[in-house]
Amino acid sequence: MINMCRILGVVLSLLFAYDVMAQKNPTVINKARKIHNSIITLDTHIDIPYDFATSSYNTITKIKPAHQFDIPSMILGNLDSIFLVVFVSQGPRTQTGYAKALSDGLIKFRAIHRLTTAIQKKNIVLALSAEQVRNAHKDGKKSALIGIENGYIIGTDLSLINKFYKLGARYFGFLHFGHNDLGDSSVPNIQLGDAQEEHFGLSQLGKEVLRTLNNHGIIPDISHSSKKTALDIVNLSRSPVIASHSNVQGIYNHPRNLSDEELFAIKKNNGVVQVVAYDAYLKNIPEEKKMAIAIMQKSLGIGNYQDLYDLGQDTLKEYQLGMANINQNFPSADLSVLLDHIDYIVEKIGVDHVGISSDFNGGGGIKGWENVADTFNVTLELLERGYSENEIEKIWGENTLRVMEEVNRISLMHKRQKR
Ligand SMILES: [Zn+2]
Repeated sequence: MINMCRILGVVLSLLFAYDVMAQKNPTVINKARKIHNSIITLDTHIDIPYDFATSSYNTITKIKPAHQFDIPSMILGNLDSIFLVVFVSQGPRTQTGYAKALSDGLIKFRAIHRLTTAIQKKNIVLALSAEQVRNAHKDGKKSALIGIENGYIIGTDLSLINKFYKLGARYFGFLHFGHNDLGDSSVPNIQLGDAQEEHFGLSQLGKEVLRTLNNHGIIPDISHSSKKTALDIVNLSRSPVIASHSNVQGIYNHPRNLSDEELFAIKKNNGVVQVVAYDAYLKNIPEEKKMAIAIMQKSLGIGNYQDLYDLGQDTLKEYQLGMANINQNFPSADLSVLLDHIDYIVEKIGVDHVGISSDFNGGGGIKGWENVADTFNVTLELLERGYSENEIEKIWGENTLRVMEEVNRISLMHKRQKR
């Protein structure tokens, strides 16, 4: 029965895909293609596993079932620039916990450097500024930037921010699932003993981190922060902020999504919200699907969401194949839902404050944008929604590049004053 359902699911999804393509107007497709090929497309959130840029995940060969990013597919999808993410999962706030987070994070920095200085240096450069993203685009090259996800990586050591800046980090997400020493998470970690709130916003250390980020020229990232913590970051920051991968509560009320109050604060701060192609933050997941996911996770020994971030390579592959099967029976959101979140932000705070992220390799990927090779479909959908070329250019990259330039300008002012 399950097999029959699965086969039916595949047939239906193929028919649906055929139907969608058949409905597209060739003139619109050509126009979208022209726009997509000329503008800078920038995805602000792609995760990397611990074996990234090694023989088991070399990024040279095209997409394997468990991966959503590699260089040939990035070229195929004409995605120009990406933030690769140095993510560390939240653990205990002890010296041992901090040391593990730091060493885990350094593995990922080294992997990104291997990609851009050795394995793929002909195709992709490590960009440290908006100018370098633009130059790479002019030279017909891809660019990778580095973002940090979870301020737990510094433990309580502020000096590490300088080290990470030198290693190339250009945004810094304060939190993940679970509170840390910098502030409160939008989703407390019960296993680690979190209360609903701990700091009631940014902690004193969190405020010092924010000042240090502003001084160095690293973008503060509010994704995963609780509402109070996010509002503290946005209101206290001397430079614009981003939400590197967040959707909005106005379309789907989820604790990871942003409230209108946060949106208005971001507008005032001249920041950007990068909507994310993450099914569970785009729309409500049916109970049957939640159940199917729970059963599959249990069979792989995954107890809760925290375990998902510490899976071994083999389990990760099995998990991703399991999710692909479940998605055949219970399709994920499609691009029109992602566009609903974009439209909402544009309506509330304007087209200068919205961007795009995938969260590929980190749970992201939806119908129509399942891996980097599908990136053109996003531009096509934007055009079909009525966005102009200039607006699509802003949404796909210019807004984020503007934030990077402003963050850099404010940091340079600080450095000059210090001299
Ligand atoms: Zn995340």
